[in-house]
Amino acid sequence: MFVQTPKFIQALFPSLIWRKETKNKEVWLTFDDGPAPEITPWILAVLKKENVKATFFLVGEQIEQYPKLVADIINEGHSIANHSYSHKNGWLTSKKKYIADVKKCQELMPKNSLFRPPYGKITKAQISVLKAKYKIILWDVLGWDFLQNTTPEKIKKNILNNTKAGSIIVLHNNQKSFKNLQPILAETIQILKEAGFSFSVTW
Ligand SMILES: [Zn+2]
Repeated sequence: MFVQTPKFIQALFPSLIWRKETKNKEVWLTFDDGPAPEITPWILAVLKKENVKATFFLVGEQIEQYPKLVADIINEGHSIANHSYSHKNGWLTSKKKYIADVKKCQELMPKNSLFRPPYGKITKAQISVLKAKYKIILWDVLGWDFLQNTTPEKIKKNILNNTKAGSIIVLHNNQKSFKNLQPILAETIQILKEAGFSFSVTW
């Protein structure tokens, strides 16, 4: 995997959204997984303090477990989106099961029109069904916050070195990534703001 998705992979999947076209100096900050107790409230507090908005790709099973956290995300002005019901790997799941899993999550957020495949792993057959109903959102800047053998400083540098106007940045709203995210989230946002970036949730 790569911090930035190589052009040749992007070209293989033209119906997926890897970056946003924009004339403005803006980025799309996204958090995958969750909602998760302790982690989600902490992320929300940082975003509030920095006065930026983000899009949360939530997992249906966890939405059912933590509805209050979902309400908090929405009440703070952020967007929520579909990250499947049970976080299945599309490469290892039949089309029928995969589509049903996405639909089950969608029933928990009827107004949503965005989907992000867990692990970024989705087949052409699954895409061909889902693209009729969803914008399928990938990313061009992967934070690597889920890696266990990295440092927060490296994650921060990865993000800052690769973000440009229109970038979709992915970080994680889960326990595994928290130790990497916690030391650098606020500072990374501050540096991007100082560089003139604004944060959009308009897809
Ligand atoms: Zn995920």
